[in-house]
Amino acid sequence: MRRLGLLGGMSWESSIEYERRINEGVRAALGGTHSADLLIRSYDFAAIEVMQAAGDWAGAGAVLATDAAHLERAGAEAIVLCTNTMHVVAPAIEAAISVPFLHLADATASAVVDAGVEKVALLGTRYTMEQDFYRGRLEARGLEVLVPDEPDRTLVHDVIYDELVRGRIVPSSKAAYLGVIDRLLERGATGVIAGCTEIELLVGPHDVDVAYFPTTALHADAAIAFALS
Ligand code: GLU
Repeated sequence: MRRLGLLGGMSWESSIEYERRINEGVRAALGGTHSADLLIRSYDFAAIEVMQAAGDWAGAGAVLATDAAHLERAGAEAIVLCTNTMHVVAPAIEAAISVPFLHLADATASAVVDAGVEKVALLGTRYTMEQDFYRGRLEARGLEVLVPDEPDRTLVHDVIYDELVRGRIVPSSKAAYLGVIDRLLERGATGVIAGCTEIELLVGPHDVDVAYFPTTALHADAAIAFALS
């Protein structure tokens, strides 16, 4: 089994789901008392959030790249960045390491393509919905990506930062998210990407009538496949 380096804590509410799912996957494959071989760097998210809000992507990228290199030196054979948003600095991380970087948008794109979905809705932080680093990677795989219009985009973003990363699961916010999803389906989407690792804590596949792509689960599955390869 190969050792994985996880960059997490962004937020820990979803990082523990990565850890749980990767361990469950290893146990399912290897049985007995087997569990995953993990190195975890879990940040104080408040410090990361300050850099996000300030648009200091270079600073955030430097922090994550330095720690990814530390994980590699400690024996990690691949790096898993446990957040969609911070993939904005994936190039800085990739430049700092020589082991594979398991890109979350690639795992997501593969699942969407495999499901035969061509027009897909993307929910995530404002950074993920509005910048090109994530959408562009999906579009490069031939997908048409729809993001919510305003004010829905602000609603989706605010629920992530005001509730989900703080461990608050609020039924009225779930209803609001389902309304946002309905409006994206009316625009022609036939699948929905939960493109923020906390969204699947609020809305699950059973809540949505079309194909649903929970990125924490998809990314953790890619990590399991690598660890066992
Ligand atoms: N975990 C979230 C994501 O997947 C949002 C928090 C963050 O900005 O890292 O985008």
